[in-house]
Amino acid sequence: MAIDKEGSLYKALFEAAADGIIIINARGIIQSFSPSAELLFGYSEADVFGQNVSILMPKSDADRHDGYLKNYLDSGKAAIIGKGREVTAMKKSGQLFQMHLSVGRAETPEGQPFFVGICHDLSMYQNVVEQLERVDVRYRNVFDSEGLFIVRISLEGTIILSNRSFSQQFHTNEIAGDDFLGCVASSSKRDAQVLFSLSENGFKNELKMSLMMKASSSHTEVEWRFKLVKDNIGYHIQGVGIDVSEKVVAANEAFFLRNFDSVTKLPQLDYVQQLFDGNQVENALFCFMVFELTDFDRIRKLNGEVLADRMLEELARSLEDQVSYLHCSRLQASRFLLIFVVDTTQNLERQVEDKATTLHTELQRTVGDISSDIRVGSAYFAKNKDTFSDVVERALMAIEYSRQNMLFLSCYNESIHRAADRKKGIQKALIKAIKNVEIDVYFQPKIDLRHNCVVAYEALMRWFSDDYGFVPPWEVIEAAQELNLPIELDKCVMNKTLSIIKANSSIFNADTPVAINLSAKSFGMKCIIDELIEKINAHDIDPKSIEVEVTEDALLTIGDQVKSNASALREAGVKICLDDFGTGYSALSYLGKLPLDNLKIDRSFVIESEQESGRLMLEAIVSIAKSFHLTVTAEGIETPEQQAFLANIGCEYAQGFYYSKAIPVVDIPQWVVLSPVTN
Ligand code: C2E
Ligand code: CA
Ligand code: CA
Repeated sequence: MAIDKEGSLYKALFEAAADGIIIINARGIIQSFSPSAELLFGYSEADVFGQNVSILMPKSDADRHDGYLKNYLDSGKAAIIGKGREVTAMKKSGQLFQMHLSVGRAETPEGQPFFVGICHDLSMYQNVVEQLERVDVRYRNVFDSEGLFIVRISLEGTIILSNRSFSQQFHTNEIAGDDFLGCVASSSKRDAQVLFSLSENGFKNELKMSLMMKASSSHTEVEWRFKLVKDNIGYHIQGVGIDVSEKVVAANEAFFLRNFDSVTKLPQLDYVQQLFDGNQVENALFCFMVFELTDFDRIRKLNGEVLADRMLEELARSLEDQVSYLHCSRLQASRFLLIFVVDTTQNLERQVEDKATTLHTELQRTVGDISSDIRVGSAYFAKNKDTFSDVVERALMAIEYSRQNMLFLSCYNESIHRAADRKKGIQKALIKAIKNVEIDVYFQPKIDLRHNCVVAYEALMRWFSDDYGFVPPWEVIEAAQELNLPIELDKCVMNKTLSIIKANSSIFNADTPVAINLSAKSFGMKCIIDELIEKINAHDIDPKSIEVEVTEDALLTIGDQVKSNASALREAGVKICLDDFGTGYSALSYLGKLPLDNLKIDRSFVIESEQESGRLMLEAIVSIAKSFHLTVTAEGIETPEQQAFLANIGCEYAQGFYYSKAIPVVDIPQWVVLSPVTN
């Protein structure tokens, strides 16, 4: 090789250069490989000496390199020599990288051409460029992101610079030269002015403020952070703001959902309490009046939730317009609380009665043709004496008293309080009684009027509580309903009855079956009917010795489930009796739709038999029953006259105190012996 590698200048340059230096001959064979080139490519000089330079290139370039070189030597035209350009090179490891390659041509003293390549690694540079680009994009994204506003304002309030979001939304004219206060809505102007009245010290920390900004179509709430910045021109205020209008809307919505009723838009009780406690007038006496629609359940059942809700909404609106009050809140379903101030110099009761009457009138006006009534309970609130929740509780006790006693209005007093305490106590005791099956069952005989003999019994629950003594069935049922346990109660009585029937097969059999009362809810539930049939079979009881009594309300909406439950009972051999006929909603159409066996005339009709109109009614009921091929039982017979009349019009069976009250099973044999009916 005729290159003077030993020349001191060459050596110094070659070894000290930061860029890699590669010398190749006219055939592309590597003659020299500088230490920097070794570092850059990962090859040692010994590795590459004598090899074609194309080993340092990716395959696509490598394949063409010899051709380029030959072409250049033949034609003298080169794309790279003397110019330099960015190329892709390949390290020993196979990794590709970008480098800047400058190629110079020289000749040996013998006139042989050779080429010097200077390789400048670009990978670092490229990385930096890419990073800068990314930063720039990110910065621009941030700078112009929607909902984020950036402004620079002079200390006098002129906008010097603003980002696109700001100028698009608030600043429709020129970007610079406008007044910042001109972009602020009048409701926030005073707050914004503070910004320009502050001394340097006032800006020691970042200043946070929420301003209503004037947007092109509407106003936008923006949460700003302002700080004082210094640049080469001097001091400026820099503001970064976030559009919080959605946040404000969401917060308002959340507040509404938390504190207001979605149907009536009235405040919830907790919120009313907050308002009431926070704003009490000195020495004022308040009346807390709770009222509700007596027939709301029926209205809801018959008209559907949507119409019922609309009705409540309308009622709430009309109360607001027509009834003066301090607060009004919907407690549940159709139950409302109204708080108003009473004038202590006037008759208190009269004021309460007047308000209740106004409510009643308003209700009748808004509810319109769906006839409905209200019941009301009230209690007084005296400042420094009562708490809000205590008085709400008392008004609730009062309305409960109205409900139980079918009164229009009750005002809280001590005896109402005692009744409420008893009710709570009964509810607690009932839960235990159901759990421990402490509820007993008595049996009332059913008499065949034609043959004057016992043909069946009705099982009636009897609860003798340790703490409350005998609790009548209506009270037990009501307590169970309020505790949402009517099904558990039915199951408890049903199981108890079945075990008594099983243990007394000589008394209860197919000739003298036992009628079990089922609540409307249970009758509509497949699992209860299935359980009853299963238990009858499991106890090995003849299904003909069981009947089921159900009241009309179970059949109010005869759905598929009620129909299939009735059919399942019938198929199992259990008879079905329609109880309290005439007291419910008496749509006679259901008589033909269900497989019924017996129709029970309610006691109220039997009482009416003393009057001519009552007698006509009874005759009509008996003939309706006959036309549907049903037997008829009259309940509540107390006198021989009632018995005689009913027997006369063709009523087959009767029950009543005239024959016997419900008695424990152990007393039945003795009753049978002593009773006026033959067995
Ligand atoms: P009901 O099914 O109509 O039962 C007849 C009610 O009338 C019984 O009241 C019975 O004692 C009473 N009674 C019978 N004959 C006469 C009479 O001649 N004069 C008077 N004044 N009353 C008479 P009780 O036992 O207080 O039951 C009331 C209601 O409670 C029952 O009315 C029934 O709807 C319900 N009930 C009773 N036991 C059960 C039960 O085990 N399960 C279910 N689901 N409901 C029951
Ligand atoms: Ca009954
Ligand atoms: Ca009845």
